[in-house]
Amino acid sequence: MAEPNPSVVIVGGGFAGVGCAKALAEHDVDVTLIDRNNFHQFQPLLYQVATAQASPADVATPLRDLFRKHPRVTVKKATVTHVDPATRTVSTAEGAEFSGDYLVLAAGTGPNFFGVPGADEHALPLYALRDATRLRDRVFELFEEADTTPEVIEQGALTFVIVGGGPTGVETAGALIDLVDDVLAARFHDLDVATAARVVVVDHGEALLRPFSESAHEYVARVLEDRGVELWLGRGVAAVHADRVELADGTSIPTRCVVWAGGVSPTPLGLADELTTGRGPRLATAADLTLVGHPRVYAIGDVAQIADHDGTVLPQLGSVALQAGTHAGHNIRRHAAGRDTEPFRYHDKGIMAMIGRNAAIAELGAHRHELHGHLAFTAWLGVHALLMSGTRERVDLFVSWAWDYFTKNRAPSIVESTDGIDWDDAGS
Ligand SMILES: Cc1cc2nc3c(=O)[nH]c(=O)nc-3n(C[C@H](O)[C@H](O)[C@H](O)COP(=O)(O)OP(=O)(O)OC[C@H]3O[C@@H](n4cnc5c(N)ncnc54)[C@H](O)[C@@H]3O)c2cc1C
Repeated sequence: MAEPNPSVVIVGGGFAGVGCAKALAEHDVDVTLIDRNNFHQFQPLLYQVATAQASPADVATPLRDLFRKHPRVTVKKATVTHVDPATRTVSTAEGAEFSGDYLVLAAGTGPNFFGVPGADEHALPLYALRDATRLRDRVFELFEEADTTPEVIEQGALTFVIVGGGPTGVETAGALIDLVDDVLAARFHDLDVATAARVVVVDHGEALLRPFSESAHEYVARVLEDRGVELWLGRGVAAVHADRVELADGTSIPTRCVVWAGGVSPTPLGLADELTTGRGPRLATAADLTLVGHPRVYAIGDVAQIADHDGTVLPQLGSVALQAGTHAGHNIRRHAAGRDTEPFRYHDKGIMAMIGRNAAIAELGAHRHELHGHLAFTAWLGVHALLMSGTRERVDLFVSWAWDYFTKNRAPSIVESTDGIDWDDAGS
């Protein structure tokens, strides 16, 4: 039976949550969109903020602005700590409760330190805007300190270690070496930056960008090594200390900046273990994206394990999250209208990564047609402009900014001075 004016509570204003809210916004549905931030962040460009090539405003959009023309979408800034799928009620750290006829869980992921001692305390993850600004400030602070006290270079002041050779690690390494070589080397005249600064990628696997093809692995490794990035592959991280990274083979790399790009785990929402599955573990979904056993609760985006129509588990990507969000909105409308929900079907545009200025890789479509360089970047731009179109009014500004970044030597933004590094904090 049709259900007029249903209410929907959405937890998370990332690609999935915003995609779902947009799919409902034009219809007779009351939507409450809850996020711990009052903005939507564009995660694929966080490493650009971290390397000062983009400002926070380039990658974040206020959620209330996104829905200002949709009075039936209400935004609440709150951190959800507990979810009761039976009553479709969420509780927040601030002491509020929200319930709806439908509940959508789209709270994304956070870093997974895999129990590596010290990683939580000393490594810098890159999964949220505040992570990106923190990392950017650390990089600049270390250059300033090395400039005034060159002895700290011996203690790893200009050694930047990236743990994880997946897309986040590779993109960060490429952008960081560009920042060091093209910008900081010219700014810090008293430092021999070319000799003193190191960017090191450590991964326990033998290849970078594992989801890509073997030729892509070779291309990426060649591009990064040609630019001076050190690749320490096949080596696991045993511990992260305040002053060094310790590897499983006993080697230590002195550093004051460890970027954690080692993996993600879903945001904990206090749900029972039997509602989770797979690696991570992520929320278990049925083909129509509902949480298993709960036909009025949807789990979408990175927080969920989503399978395509043929059963293939889909990767944690912005395009999967956005399409799943739109589909969940569509299914909520169908269910409220008394109709059957439909299974999710992913339209695969491929996988891609920017490896720094003038270097990118794309494997397009389900058949993974491989492109390198400018063509790959054009594909990257198209897919990311599409992702952005739901959350930014001026996609053309993004396109021209990204094109400039890729093809020209842009001067990065100014960074204010930060707290400083404690050089005596060794050995912990
Ligand atoms: C550094 C990085 C680079 C990436 N690059 C690419 C790329 O180039 N291309 C691509 O397709 N994908 C990329 N991805 C993956 C892509 O960003 C994710 O797949 C996508 O963001 C998932 O969308 P989501 O909506 O599920 O989660 P998110 O985008 O993570 O959104 C989750 C939202 O939930 C909110 N939230 C979390 N916990 C709570 C809580 N307890 N209470 C309230 N709100 C909460 C968060 O603030 C956030 O706004 C990248 C990811 C990272 C981290």
